[in-house]
Amino acid sequence: MENLLINSIYRATEGEGVHIGTPQIFVRFQGCRVGCLNCDSMDTWSFDEGEFWSLDSVLEEIKKFGLKRVSITGGDPLHPKNLDGVISLSKALKQRGYYVNIEASGTRVVDELFDLIDYISFDYKTPSTGVKTSMALVERLVAQYQGKYQIKSVVESHEDFLDCLEKKRALDSQYPEIQIIWVLTPAYNFAENFPEKRFQEVLNWNELENAPFRVIGQQHKWIFGPKKKRV
Ligand code: SF4
Repeated sequence: MENLLINSIYRATEGEGVHIGTPQIFVRFQGCRVGCLNCDSMDTWSFDEGEFWSLDSVLEEIKKFGLKRVSITGGDPLHPKNLDGVISLSKALKQRGYYVNIEASGTRVVDELFDLIDYISFDYKTPSTGVKTSMALVERLVAQYQGKYQIKSVVESHEDFLDCLEKKRALDSQYPEIQIIWVLTPAYNFAENFPEKRFQEVLNWNELENAPFRVIGQQHKWIFGPKKKRV
């Protein structure tokens, strides 16, 4: 049955977040309705594009690369149109001994899936994205999935940083016994040269606040440029 709407499957080295530098296979699902203003994968938005693959053909393709580590991304792999396929794929990968990470857009916590996989990279959307993440969902993630998640936020401005800081401080006081892993990614947008000043500012803001965050840029954009796909 052809039922997984796929944008692309490729091997690359993770370029951001706490797994930076780790080679893995990316399974990029097609379709997203979240609408972030600074999205760097707008080619994944439409549900009328991409290609339907069977579960077996996706597993075969993954197997060709030899690595036992998969990151399921998008688009929005947690969109209801993709979710059943993502759960089936995750179950099959776990049965075959793969490490599975999901790039979650921050719009849903799906226990059936999150309980099954190894790691959840969960977006908290900053004001510059034009999208709001429910803090109730972030709280559930922190309370239920200790040790297997990172929160990730793209920071384009001081307003973005301050918004993350306020939310992080609130979580820290709510869960004083938990070390909350929250990564700030200084934005590197399509139309700009390497934003050295922004990177330096984000590093500095974080240091001045006694390091509530980890600051990790997107190294694939430094190496291949901000527009290159499948890297
Ligand atoms: S959730 Fe991801 S793919 Fe969807 S609009 Fe936002 S950044 Fe782009």
